[in-house]
Parts: sequence; C-alpha cells; structure tokens
Amino acid sequence: MYITLLLDVEDIITPEADDIARDVAAILSDQGVCATFCVVGERVRQWVSRGRADVIDALARHDVGTHTDLHSVHPTIVEYLAPVPFDEGVEEALRRERPAVRAIEQVFGVTPSCWGGPGNTWGPQINEAMARLGVPAIVYAHTRVPDGDIHRYCGTLCYPAGHYAGDGDYHDDAKWERNIARLQDELRKDRDRGLQWSEVFLGHPSRILHEEFWDGQNFSLGNQPELEAYVLPRRKSDSDLERALGNLRTTVQVLRDMPGIEMRTIRQMNALAAGGETRALTHDEIELVRPAIQANVRAMAGWVILPPDTNVEPIWRQTDERLNTLERVVLTQ
Ligand SMILES: [Zn+2]
Repeated sequence: MYITLLLDVEDIITPEADDIARDVAAILSDQGVCATFCVVGERVRQWVSRGRADVIDALARHDVGTHTDLHSVHPTIVEYLAPVPFDEGVEEALRRERPAVRAIEQVFGVTPSCWGGPGNTWGPQINEAMARLGVPAIVYAHTRVPDGDIHRYCGTLCYPAGHYAGDGDYHDDAKWERNIARLQDELRKDRDRGLQWSEVFLGHPSRILHEEFWDGQNFSLGNQPELEAYVLPRRKSDSDLERALGNLRTTVQVLRDMPGIEMRTIRQMNALAAGGETRALTHDEIELVRPAIQANVRAMAGWVILPPDTNVEPIWRQTDERLNTLERVVLTQ
C-alpha cells in the first residue's frame, strides 16, 4: 500500500511560523522522506517579500500543493460557492484560486500537485476549476468510492481524507504514544484489506509551534479583523517544542519503516494514477456511498471560521447532481 504524508502550511499572520515550516520540512528530509505540503498562496508571496529563500528551499525538496490563496480570509470557499449557480462558482474559484497556483508555479517552478481545502471545506466547482488551472488532484476529498480508495469526480483525481497523526499533540508524550499506536493500527487494517493508497495527515507546522490555530481567534464566525487587530497565537515553550519535534521525527521513522507500506507524494501518486484504469461506479455503488458523501459535505458547516448562517445545502445539491461522474482508479503495477 502507498501512503502520502500531508501537511498544511497556512499561517499568514505570524512571521515567526516561517521557521517551523522550514524546520519540519528539514526533519522529514533528514529521514529520507518526501511529503506533500499544501501551502497557502499568500504565504508563498510573503516568503518572497520577506526574503525567506531558506524556507522555500526546504519545502522545494518536497512536493507542493495549494491550500487555497487566502484560507480563512472571508469569503472562504463555501461562502463564495454556496450562493451561486455551478458555472458561476467555477468562474469565481478560477478568479480566487488562480493567484495561489501562479505563486507556487513562479516560486517553486512546478504546478501544485493538488488542492487541499481549508478547514475541510470544498465544493465540486473546485474540481472543475483545478482541472482548468492544470492542478490534477483534490486531497482531503469529501467524495468516496465504496472501498474508500483513490477515485475521480468531475474528472479530477480525488484522494479521500484518511488518518490523523496528532497535529497539536506532538509535545504531549502520553497523547502522542496513543496517537502513533492508533495510526499504525489503522494503517495495518487499510493495508490488510487491500487498499491501494491511504492518507496520513501529519499536521500543521504552525500547530506544532503554537498552542492554538492562527485563525481561530481572528476569523471565527465570519469575523474579518483589520490587520493591526490580529491576535497572535501563543508560542509553545522551548521544551515543549523540542519534545514535539522529537516525536514528529519518530512518527516519520515509524511510518517509513512499516512493512508493506511505501511512501509516495501526491505528485508521484498522480503519475501512477494517470497510467491506471478508471471504472465508473454502478447506480447501486453510487447509492452506497451517497450517505457518506452527504455527511462529509454537511459536516463542513461545523468549521469555526464560517459565519453562523452559512448554508452548505446548495453545495450538497451541486455535489449530488454530479455523483454519476464518480470513477474508481485502479493502479496498474
Ligand atoms: Zn488549513
């Protein structure tokens, strides 16, 4: 079974979080591991303007996807997609997401391998827009096929959300030990049931550094503060940070050395999937996965950043109308 380690780099208000993105990328490289970092477009532009070639170089040794252009700045993905018809939403997504794709292309010299949604939000218009921008895949996908494996939806490759390594808990030895045991157990089960690929969300580098998310105190419930009013997240103590990075390193070693599991980036998986076969789902199979997809889309309403009156039902209807485009992807060895 293949696995991909994914990380989100998104804190656009705290310059001190630049170092942790670099340091986490370097820890992975030291272990001989390549991960996929989903990076916010604004953050890439900030690294350029702050002269952070060290951060860019450390990340360039890995695979880079886009994690939207502005992440939690309103209107976020769901806020701008839900109120408009599908085609208008595609145009809006092109207009709002193109700057992130172009920033990554200019700075890293590659088109993002994938798009990962903020706070697990998404809309089917994104699949269409990314295809037009040359971004071949969606990660943390809300869509499913019956075995939970790689698939296509609206023609775009989709990698379903999988397993969670712990994110903000790396500094807590007891929690980390439980997390790593659970993670290995979940991956063994996936491997033993014949899954081709599984996701491990390794975390947000900024949550390894900080006690809380950068956006929660600022953008929650539709709030849009002025730049000078931002509340900055609290930094962990040096000893907590050191312990967190040590446990992250061990996590990567443990996953790297698991029998029957090979690490690939999303870019590498996209190449494998491009040579694979696609098989459309039957009507019965679509009915089988429909409730899980509906639950995933409806759960988006729980993202703390969204205004309290956000209605995700239009996104579910637009998703439902296109379920007949679901196709399994079967990798050929
Ligand atoms: Zn995010």
